Order: sequence, then C-alpha cells, then structure tokens
Amino acid sequence: MLAVMLFEPALSRLGDPLDDDRVLLFVGNALIVATGDDVRLPTRAALADLVPPETVHVGVLAGHAVETAHIDSATHLPSGWVHEPLRPLHGRLPEAEWAVAGRAFQLAEWDRTHLFCGVCGMPTERLADERARSCQQCAHRAYPRHSPAVIMRITRGDEVLLGRSSHFPPDMYSTLAGFVDVGESAEAAVRREVREEAGIEITEPQWFGSQSWAFPHSLMLGFTAEWASGDVVADLTELEDVQWFTRERLPVLPPPASIARRLLDAWL
Ligand SMILES: [Zn+2]
Repeated sequence: MLAVMLFEPALSRLGDPLDDDRVLLFVGNALIVATGDDVRLPTRAALADLVPPETVHVGVLAGHAVETAHIDSATHLPSGWVHEPLRPLHGRLPEAEWAVAGRAFQLAEWDRTHLFCGVCGMPTERLADERARSCQQCAHRAYPRHSPAVIMRITRGDEVLLGRSSHFPPDMYSTLAGFVDVGESAEAAVRREVREEAGIEITEPQWFGSQSWAFPHSLMLGFTAEWASGDVVADLTELEDVQWFTRERLPVLPPPASIARRLLDAWL
C-alpha cells in the first residue's frame, strides 16, 4: 500500500521552527533541492544558512511544517545543492511533495511581489487570520493572485483537436487553452478560445475537472465539447499549428502531470 502523505494548509505555524521543517526556497521559479537522483524537499537543518528570517508558512505535510521564501539569485548555494525548475521535478519528487511545492511557489511569489501597497505605496504586512497582506497606511488588502484559465478537449467523431505552440518540445501538441477574461463565464471562454485559436464553433462545453497549475498561478478549468461547425483555421499569432488527430496518428502528448494529459487519457 502506498504511504499517504497528508497535507493540511495553514496560515501560521504552531510552535518554534524545527530542524526537520521542510523549507522550500525559490530562486526565480526554481526550487533548491539536493543534487542526485533521490530528490526530496530540503529540511531547515540542511539549508540553515540560506533560510531568511521571514518565511511564509504553507501548512503541514506528513507532520512537518512547510515554510517557503524567495531568495536572491546571487545567493551562493552550499555544495550538494542546486536550484531546479519546478515543472520538470514532477516525477522526480514524490507527487504530494511536488504539489506542495507548487502551492509554496505561488505563495512565495505573491508575498515577494506584494511587500508594498498597490494603492498608496506604503509597506504591507501579513495578516494572521487570512491569507492576505494588508497596507499599514490605508488597510488595502492584497490576496494571492489566482488566474482562472480554461482548457478543453474538442472532438469530432473519432478525432481530437490539438494545437502546437512554438515553445512546446518538438512534435508535441496539446489541447487548446486560454485565460478567462474579466466578466466572462468559463463556458463562454471555452467557446471564445476555440473560435479564436481554431476558427470553429462547438457544442455546449461540459465540465471535466480542474487543476491548480503553479506556472505561474493558474487554476485550470477543464471542459469537453464536440465540434459543431466550421473548418479549422489556426490563429498563427498564438499557435504554430492546429489540426484534428485520430487515435492512430497522435503527436507527442503533454506530460502526465498536466490536466491536458488527463483530458486526453480519458479519451484514449
Ligand atoms: Zn495603502
């Protein structure tokens, strides 16, 4: 039986810092981890000299407090430690640890970028009773940024619509996706994105599931729909190519960690 690693989010830690706290330090979007194959989240003891006095408490993972912070890119790392982009660490870090690291990254990034009030420019401070920073001068509150995006599997008979972005690895295609506009419903965003990126009309989008995606701070809302009318015309300003694929002739698909892959695996 697999060991279950329970994570409980929390705003502030109970008790003093401990040597076996898990401390997630980020340099840009890269997490500091030990070199080698057995990648685990670092303990406070292991990175003691690097941990800033102010960290953001993330919660408790399998009995260990999780703290996070951004550190300066010029910080010298001790021997045996490197910083690695979070996304490719999927599959190398245990699943629960990778998910907590994604959450920690978003909190550390929010904290780092909201030290001053967006209204009056004065310093902000963290609140103890909710996940927010409050301005000491005007009481304006800033919450962690969270951007809803839709991602959709569009099918036509036994074909699926996939697009390719220029920043994808070679030969990889994925489901279409895009951010939800202010004032727009998720379903309307699905129809708009498909119309914009592929030039076709679809049936009413059906709910599939969601996924927090820390790159950089998205909440992916998954839908499925069927082609209704129109020929595919790729929007070449956003994508290199969009086309229908059959199960027998599929390109390289997105990695397993993504909801894009879950959408496609459910169809395959
Ligand atoms: Zn203010």
